[in-house]
Amino acid sequence: MRNPFHIPYQLLYHPWFADAQVQLGVLRLDQMEGIVRGNKWFKLLHVFEDVQKNEKRGIITYGGAYSNHIYATAMACNHLGLKSVGIIRGEETLPLNPVLAAAKAQGMYLHYINRATYRQKHVSEIKEQWLALYPDFYEIPEGGANHQAVTGCSLIPTYVPVPFDYIVCACGTGSTLAGLITGIAPAQTAIGISVLKGGDFLREAVRQFVLPIRQENLPVWEIQTSYHFGGYAKQSSELSAFVQFCKTTWNLPVEPVYTAKMFFGLCDLIRKGYFPKGSHIAAVHTGGLVPLYD
Ligand SMILES: *Cc1c(COP(=O)(O)O)cnc(C)c1O
Repeated sequence: MRNPFHIPYQLLYHPWFADAQVQLGVLRLDQMEGIVRGNKWFKLLHVFEDVQKNEKRGIITYGGAYSNHIYATAMACNHLGLKSVGIIRGEETLPLNPVLAAAKAQGMYLHYINRATYRQKHVSEIKEQWLALYPDFYEIPEGGANHQAVTGCSLIPTYVPVPFDYIVCACGTGSTLAGLITGIAPAQTAIGISVLKGGDFLREAVRQFVLPIRQENLPVWEIQTSYHFGGYAKQSSELSAFVQFCKTTWNLPVEPVYTAKMFFGLCDLIRKGYFPKGSHIAAVHTGGLVPLYD
């Protein structure tokens, strides 16, 4: 199969999976070759095509102080000779955390805005102010969650080198999951694991992402909302123990914000007998937090 990014597919073994008579493999986007690793590369792929087509000078985008999307955008822009601007939620704190320090080192210009204004960032007058400062820039929303991100992520399933019944990923904005849904066959099923508390809103968000791209022969898809461990980026000793477990059992590096929750939820579902016997489940390792965890 064509695999320009050399994305490995690793089979995972454990008595849980043998007992449930399922097979689990993991698509290691964290190990792909490319300027940026992980789902953020697929989310940006078609954005960069648009940027080039429309002769934009750079990208302006939004995020929290630990946003992988901010870092990935800075990194990709730097490599492609584009400028990048990050509108960051909250006050500047020095020294910069590793994510923002890395983004800055890649040449990203950082603006800080207070939380109240940040919440209004979708309001057009506020957007216009930024865009007036950076006229020839291409704007992407927080988390990179736009139509281009979804069409880019629809390519991810084509890199699974074996036939599969289920494909699973972690959900923040849901745009990666929406991509998986638009990229699989009607008989396959996509499952998202929400890393946010109160992730029920994601179902409607994902539906809206999918709608313009695929209306017919939609595969079954769903979002599991009970593996958030208290909410986005919340610490928990159970989750830290699971990060360690993945490392020692499968030599699989995961981080607590996204991928550990996804694998934890997936293992739990397998143990509960959620998947029919004989299923092949492809988990997408979406990468993550490169400067923090490398
Ligand atoms: C951003 C990110 C996600 C979430 O992707 P969405 O498209 O926002 O749902 C999942 N995993 C990792 C490692 C990420 O960095």
